[in-house]
Amino acid sequence: MLSPAHIAVNDISYLFNTDITVAVLRLDQLHPDIPGNKWFKLRYYLQEAIAGQKKNIITFGGAWSNHIIATAAACRMHGLQSTGIIRGEEPSQFSTTLLQAKEWGMQLVFLSRSDYSNKYIPPALLTPDSYIIPEGGYGGQGAEGAARIADHCPEGFTHYCCAVGTGTTMAGLINATTNLQKVIGISVMKNNTGLEKMTGALVKPGKDNWQLIHDYHFGGYARYSPELLTFMNDFYTRTGIPSDFVYTGKLFYAVTNLVQHNFFAAGSRLLLIHSGGLQGNNSLRKGMLIF
Ligand SMILES: *Cc1c(COP(=O)(O)O)cnc(C)c1O
Repeated sequence: MLSPAHIAVNDISYLFNTDITVAVLRLDQLHPDIPGNKWFKLRYYLQEAIAGQKKNIITFGGAWSNHIIATAAACRMHGLQSTGIIRGEEPSQFSTTLLQAKEWGMQLVFLSRSDYSNKYIPPALLTPDSYIIPEGGYGGQGAEGAARIADHCPEGFTHYCCAVGTGTTMAGLINATTNLQKVIGISVMKNNTGLEKMTGALVKPGKDNWQLIHDYHFGGYARYSPELLTFMNDFYTRTGIPSDFVYTGKLFYAVTNLVQHNFFAAGSRLLLIHSGGLQGNNSLRKGMLIF
């Protein structure tokens, strides 16, 4: 298993005219092929599959999915076969994500949007040596893996801030922090009313040191505005830190906005989790981002 010896933490407090400390945990730099939180989320699923002598990992995602590409890369590293069940009919031109996943040996199976939303798995794929990882790595093993992110966080932070899709990464962070620390999750979806419940289901009893914020989705999942892209370009110019428009761009925007509106008490020390996902920017027209 990959064991990242050192993950950089960049102090970006100079962006803010306050006494609040803001730093970024660079999980985007973890591994060239498996960036970010996906590596952590996959770890215990793969361990379980290998221990159970499973040979083929099946999982789900869209055409630009970070989870799909991370699964393809991780399975290849571990000598496992992988199958990606992809949302939507087979396109005439594959996304760079799907091309890469295929190159890494992932079998791609395309499902209509309705079959996909019913989590239909073609019966031929369901052999005794197949192992299913839920969409986005959502689940107990995913949260347990995500909790290991805390092993790479320096001490002394009062707040951990992350972008939230399924809530698995956030749940892991909640479970790994003390009740004196707070985990702030920025939902990247619009009106995702079930998210509190989904996240809560993975959180250990007695933990209430967390809050989800739903105001920074920019229109919904994988939606963006010119303002978001301008922010991301500006953030890169000032910090040298690239972000993705689906997750971490919204996280950095949100935290910047919250700091400006005095959401955090004086003296707070924030650690922002850069969960990676930069490959998703390939879905944007060239030139929209400067990095
Ligand atoms: C998948 C992903 C997330 C969301 O993680 P969840 O555990 O599903 O909430 C956040 N950031 C990036 C870059 C991702 O790829």
